Amino acid sequence: MAGNVLVVGAGGVSSVAVHKMAMNAEIFGKITLASRTKSKCDDIAASVKARTGVEVATAALDAMDVAATVALIRETGAELVVNVALPYQDLVLMDACLEAGVHYLDTANYEPEDEAKFEYHWQWAYQDKFKEAGLTAILGSGFDPGVTSVFATWLRKHKLDGIRQLDVLDCNGGDNGKAFATNFNPEINIREVTADAKHWEGGEWVISPAMSHKVNFDFPEVGPKNMYLMYHEELESLSTHFPEIERARFWMTFGDAYINHVTVLQNIGMTAITPVMHDGHEIIPLQFLKTVLPDPGDLGALTKGKTCIGDIATGPAKDGSGEKTFYIYNICDHEECYAEVGSQAVAYTTGVPAMIGAAMVLGGQWKAPGVWNMEQLDPDPFMEMLNTQGLPWQVHELDAPVDF
Ligand code: NDP
Repeated sequence: MAGNVLVVGAGGVSSVAVHKMAMNAEIFGKITLASRTKSKCDDIAASVKARTGVEVATAALDAMDVAATVALIRETGAELVVNVALPYQDLVLMDACLEAGVHYLDTANYEPEDEAKFEYHWQWAYQDKFKEAGLTAILGSGFDPGVTSVFATWLRKHKLDGIRQLDVLDCNGGDNGKAFATNFNPEINIREVTADAKHWEGGEWVISPAMSHKVNFDFPEVGPKNMYLMYHEELESLSTHFPEIERARFWMTFGDAYINHVTVLQNIGMTAITPVMHDGHEIIPLQFLKTVLPDPGDLGALTKGKTCIGDIATGPAKDGSGEKTFYIYNICDHEECYAEVGSQAVAYTTGVPAMIGAAMVLGGQWKAPGVWNMEQLDPDPFMEMLNTQGLPWQVHELDAPVDF
């Protein structure tokens, strides 16, 4: 039987997730979409209605108000809250789910607003509360974290006895014609790329300055691109849950123009997250910058090219044939995504896994009391849905372990 869902947040990722939920009516019953700005929810609902014929209910909600969220969950009869608002809302939405007695899922780990700290400990601290309540919380059901974590688990279940080295490679080979624009929420994106790079090596974190380690990699169907070593939150959960990992790294591609713009913005203080006085008002430079940058939600019609995101993993082969390396990835075309749901591929590759994770909870495949990162759950039903829901994957053996 289909389950009711409350989706919180009405940005680029939400729009894709809600369209895809509506396309899977046998899994998703009543869909309610709530955000601070109700008109954004109404625009998404109108697009869903036009494309699929499905009605989406909408509501105004400030998720920082736990009582209001609890009231809305009860009113909608939702079994699950899908949090595709911002990482700042994770803990309050988890609190609301516990109070209302419903399951929880998000796509990014909690961050305090005044510190760019991407750490799981705040959400892992909810483990006992969710377990005791018999409720499920799924953390990070986007592409990375999300699909890349499930890819690693699938390789570990079917191909390798353990993962010795893991590299997550995130390539956006798309072009939107703008001098500078981010692919998802500019504030969150810039906080991420200006943070120190950090990777897991020999049982400890190795820290290096942001964007200081560059490698040129030839991506399938995209071609050669410069990718940069970065910290990304799944490194923390993967190195915790797969303790055999000796080295885990995250790489993301950026063009020279993007790097130049971020460098200048950083040098002149526009990426700062501490308040400054401007004309008698306190403003946060990065939040002001977000206001003047293109809205990623408007880039769909302009973006051409493909994304290629995946994992390269090395470890002892299951068949006893010695050490093997596999490259597992998805290729997604910006224009095809736009034709299907009216969004570019970065929102698509996040919104589709959010929908699939939600389907796993409602369908019972991933319904287990507690707080879970994606790599802790059975990868098979999720991997099957990726193939049928627009994110098909491929796996190839490489001749040798990569050594960038
Ligand atoms: P957007 O900025 O486009 O949308 C965020 C939405 O959240 C907006 O509609 C906004 O509200 C709403 N919101 C913010 N604060 C509140 C609040 N207090 N109460 C209710 N709604 C609120 O973001 P994206 O769609 O680009 O990203 C969504 C999430 O997905 C982020 O957490 C991001 O980090 C994550 N992400 C994860 C990826 C992955 O692969 N795992 C990749 C990309 C993104 P309003 O209605 O006022 O505009």
